[in-house]
Amino acid sequence: MARRTKIIATIGPASEDEDTLRALVRAGMDVARLGLAHNTIDEAAQRMAAIRRVSALERRYVGVLVDLPGPKVRTASFGENAIDLIEGTNVELRIGNDSSDASVIEVEYEGLLSDVEPGDRLSMGDGRVILEVTDVGTDRLEARIAHGGTLAGSPGLHIPSDRLSVRAPTPEDLEAVERFVELGVDMVAVSFVRSAEDLLCLPIEPHPAGPIVVAKVETRAAIDDLPAIIEAAGAVMVARGDLGSECSIEELPILQKEIIRQCISLGRPAITATQMLETMVSSPEPTRAEVSDVANAVWDGSSAVMLSGETAIGVDPVNVVETMARIAERADEAFDHRGWTSELSDLRMTDTDDPDTSITDAMTQATARALEELGIATILCISGSGFTVRSMARFRPSARILGLSANERTVRQLTLSWGTTPMHLPEEGDLENRVFEALAVARDRGEVSAGDLVGVLAGTDVRSRSTNVLRVERVPEV
Ligand code: PEP
Repeated sequence: MARRTKIIATIGPASEDEDTLRALVRAGMDVARLGLAHNTIDEAAQRMAAIRRVSALERRYVGVLVDLPGPKVRTASFGENAIDLIEGTNVELRIGNDSSDASVIEVEYEGLLSDVEPGDRLSMGDGRVILEVTDVGTDRLEARIAHGGTLAGSPGLHIPSDRLSVRAPTPEDLEAVERFVELGVDMVAVSFVRSAEDLLCLPIEPHPAGPIVVAKVETRAAIDDLPAIIEAAGAVMVARGDLGSECSIEELPILQKEIIRQCISLGRPAITATQMLETMVSSPEPTRAEVSDVANAVWDGSSAVMLSGETAIGVDPVNVVETMARIAERADEAFDHRGWTSELSDLRMTDTDDPDTSITDAMTQATARALEELGIATILCISGSGFTVRSMARFRPSARILGLSANERTVRQLTLSWGTTPMHLPEEGDLENRVFEALAVARDRGEVSAGDLVGVLAGTDVRSRSTNVLRVERVPEV
């Protein structure tokens, strides 16, 4: 059985050259993430162009996700070699971006001295080092190292989000959005979202005309406004790095499950992110606990699992993606499709005010049952915006999902959808035409064979979002 859960790999200095990008695509990268916290817009735009070239050469759809930094606070570089910050010692934090060491840490954030108060706990490098603020002066603040650790490069400094005077999206985020929308990016992730309004104010047309907006859930406020944020987003990322600094660490697995559950109920793809195979930044093998983490994220219902430093700065990004692909594929094989489909009947929320949503929801549920009863191995979903494909994927059928669209951007956005092979449909035409074309494209690409019994889901009206036809067809001969 082929892997169903998608893999997002962050591109950085260790993976940006075109040979490595090609190897990552072959290893199973479905979506490439470009983080703007460490790069300029121009550098990320060059990487996006390289990914498009490689995707064309490999004849594989690869989505591009640009991750906006938001009010992400970073320290000035500790340099290439790791520096130890010793527990119990004191450090000074100053505003600046030249360099940091074990006694003076420079921080690239103008609001540092006004937003932080004595008694605050600040975490660095996704929890590797914890500082306790002891004094705030006019040109520096003092802190005691409550938990020591090793840092290199420019790690993030987590300031509790309710203290930050800057909100997402920042003016820099908006500038980046404008540029990447022009370049036709497929997905945009928004960091430090605190409410649905933070997403609604983005100058982005609803997908597929614009990119899919991915809400990164990593603040306490976002947890409090979760249903509205998920509703306003096209997809959601469980951003465990900052979320783990924002809430007690033992809450994290519970929050992960709850966020994914709510995403499933509202039909949004959920991405589980951060430290999934962290050991592999420097080692050839993950820990046993990391392997379990990836598998459990699959069984929780993640549409995609994400790699950060492992592929951006790690010693062997290709080995990391191959390893994640093997773990995810094995977890997919053991997935309880039948149990999931019946549990989803209770979980899903159908918006009765929106007939398109309700019709598609009912049709995809009926399709999931029909596929099981008839033992059909492949379902072709013909979709304009990708909505039908995502609705179908939500039921986690054991049948393969071919997601076909005449809209190229929809096809690339489907790289994020669980279990979906994205395919371009050359013809829009009437229903008969689209069904015929879909069967022909799937057969010609070797995804199905002449004579196979397959399901085809489509809408009679190409302009409507609603899917109202399920046909069971035999794939025709050439
Ligand atoms: C996270 O905090 O888990 C995350 C994905 O965000 P970033 O890597 O941008 O800090």
